[in-house]
Amino acid sequence: MPLGEFALIDRYFRAAGAPRVDVVLGVGDDGAVLRPPPGCDLIAVSDTLVEGVHFPVGSPAASVGHRALAVNLSDIAAMGATPAWALLALTLPQVDEAWLEEFARGFSALARAHEVALVGGDTTRGPLMINVQVMGFVPQGQGLRRSGARPGDLLCVSGTPGDAAAGLRCLQTTDLLDAPADQSIREAWRALQQRFEYPTPRVDLGLRLSAIASACIDVSDGLAGDIDKMLAASLCAAIIDLDALPRSAAMSSLIEAGAISELDALRLALAGGDDYELAFCVPTSRRSALDELMREGAIGVIGEVVELKDSAAPRLSFRSGRKALTDVALADLLKTAVGFDHFAV
Ligand code: ADP
Ligand code: MG
Repeated sequence: MPLGEFALIDRYFRAAGAPRVDVVLGVGDDGAVLRPPPGCDLIAVSDTLVEGVHFPVGSPAASVGHRALAVNLSDIAAMGATPAWALLALTLPQVDEAWLEEFARGFSALARAHEVALVGGDTTRGPLMINVQVMGFVPQGQGLRRSGARPGDLLCVSGTPGDAAAGLRCLQTTDLLDAPADQSIREAWRALQQRFEYPTPRVDLGLRLSAIASACIDVSDGLAGDIDKMLAASLCAAIIDLDALPRSAAMSSLIEAGAISELDALRLALAGGDDYELAFCVPTSRRSALDELMREGAIGVIGEVVELKDSAAPRLSFRSGRKALTDVALADLLKTAVGFDHFAV
């Protein structure tokens, strides 16, 4: 007997996520009753993953569950908020219990790590698609936004953008790992695949940044394009120092081995998506607080915010001391380093 809708919800989702005292009523009624802390603003975000669009067909179910929540927690992080509650709308082609078990495991492990309760959702039949909404809170008026950057601010990014896009490329290229590459190359590709399949939402960093950053955005569609969105909201421009883009050990070893070219690595870092890192701006007056954050975690200062003199001109410009990067190929790359747009063809 295939599992019915309600038995399915009961088995896999009633106990998923973390228990919280501010959930007055969770899964099981027509709606959840939630009690936000007094004096706080509620922050609400939503993101959808469609099979074949946001993750490859046949992706491990635990990774799909993890990512469905992680992409939302990343938006919460970019707002400088504390996540608390999640809703999960699941569209499934069929009831595959092994898949559901793994999906719920991936979702729940990340939810518990961030003390997020799953308080409701919806379950329907159709092409595999997962919509998650997360709600969280910030002390009144203290959320981060895209719009606060000012000329002179330092432009920063967490982690090593480009890794997830390289990992996705490896997942989509069947022979990359089969080729008789040496062990260290295989390990580097696998490390990058992990960055795509299990991104780390920077929730703690977002909370720390709410006292430091002037503007913040999460990097989901490509670093250059997402920084451009933050600058557009802030009515500013910026110069990115290409030599300062942070690079992972895995990426460096693939470049050294000739598996990825310098130019390609740059394209991945600027235009590859799915990083779920934070890009943010910090006034120079808060440099010492930023230095302290930099001692604790991977953050790179990658440029500076400048005045937007001509609103018709590109907001982003790039500099590099490396001669090899000042050629025509780089100019072409920079023209195409805009973010992903589902409706632009
Ligand atoms: P309704 O028809 O009133 O919208 P449902 O019968 O679809 O409610 O759902 C019953 C309960 O199960 C609700 O509390 C709903 O929020 C919850 N629920 C449904 N699907 C999921 C899911 N995938 N994960 C978590 N909770 C779910
Ligand atoms: Mg109802």
